[in-house]
Amino acid sequence: MEHSASSRSTRLVDHLVRLSGQRRRDELLTGITQALVDTVDAQQVELFSLVHDENQRFWLALTQARVGLPVRMLSDPMRTELHMMSPLDSEPERVRCLDHVEQVVSPPTADQPYYISRFPGSLAEGATPWGVAEIRSTQAMSEEDVVAINRLLTLYGNMLEMLDYSECDALTGLWNRKPFDDLFYKTLRPSEPLESTDVAPDGTEHRATTSPSNFWLAMVDIDHFKQVNDTYGHLIGDEVLILVARLMKTSFRAYDRVYRFGGEEFVVVLRSGDHDAAVAALERFRVTMANYEFPQAGRITASVGVTEILAGDSPAAACERADQAVYYAKHHGRNQVCSESDLVRRGLLKVDLKIGDVELF
Ligand code: GH3
Ligand code: MG
Ligand code: MG
Repeated sequence: MEHSASSRSTRLVDHLVRLSGQRRRDELLTGITQALVDTVDAQQVELFSLVHDENQRFWLALTQARVGLPVRMLSDPMRTELHMMSPLDSEPERVRCLDHVEQVVSPPTADQPYYISRFPGSLAEGATPWGVAEIRSTQAMSEEDVVAINRLLTLYGNMLEMLDYSECDALTGLWNRKPFDDLFYKTLRPSEPLESTDVAPDGTEHRATTSPSNFWLAMVDIDHFKQVNDTYGHLIGDEVLILVARLMKTSFRAYDRVYRFGGEEFVVVLRSGDHDAAVAALERFRVTMANYEFPQAGRITASVGVTEILAGDSPAAACERADQAVYYAKHHGRNQVCSESDLVRRGLLKVDLKIGDVELF
């Protein structure tokens, strides 16, 4: 499809205006994908980001747009299995595009009739690339197309940074309450229908395979943290919070999420097939932290409460159940992981807790 210069610039400006009004990540993501496919002469646009898990990195297919079709969300990072994603090295051109922050083009071959152009998902000075935009076209990209793509991607990167700024805790860099609530209502509650389809590296599609109630919410509360502040001062206290956040980020898996809403409490959303595996993951973190030598402050422990995220749950209700388990841990020696359902089963905690949508604060 040929675009005249004037209609192209009008379309580009329209998209820029629309994108700059987006405040939600998923809408921004579909918006940029749509903008790319509408603005340039392309058959298909796909966006990929990187997922880190332990020492491995994988490509997560985010969105796909084809001329004349609505944008498809390809995968939900909370529900996509690692084996469904392509390992980093399986796509050397994308790696080169990211590493060198440059456009990498493959001309058509006997097997595939398109030019494939990859653009790095970050152009602002010093910004960390969020991923790669991969564009298929029958012709080599015109210079004008390349300029338009880079402008759109720069705007998208800037908007992502703005969202990060408003959705991250300034001290630790962890997510704050807003993205937690969004994730909870959109992804976690088993009553929510799944909209996403995962596409395997070989191109086959799979409905998400995670069964509904596979998410667990844990509250992690540092033990005797007031003493740390009182003994070593607030600055060392802040440093401990930063280091605990770092330990948490490295302890949990790619599809687990760590949040700090404020104070010396952290929230983890764990994806786990069963109760015991979720408790075991938290126990591993607890032990790692208990053995960690904090500069100046030495050994510091944490108490952890965990609960399953249930059908129709609300963030406040799930946090309150996890809090009850933390409360129990605090009154029974601290430095331990307590499961709310375990405590209820053993008659150590009463079941008078809300599950529904009643917001408590
Ligand atoms: P417990 O084992 O029962 O959890 O005891 P605790 O001392 O950890 O709990 P308490 O709730 O009594 O104290 C929490 C302390 O955390 C008090 C508060 O000053 C401190 N705190 C909260 N937010 C921050 C912060 O951002 N930086 C620092 N340095 N301290 C903080
Ligand atoms: Mg506390
Ligand atoms: Mg505490």
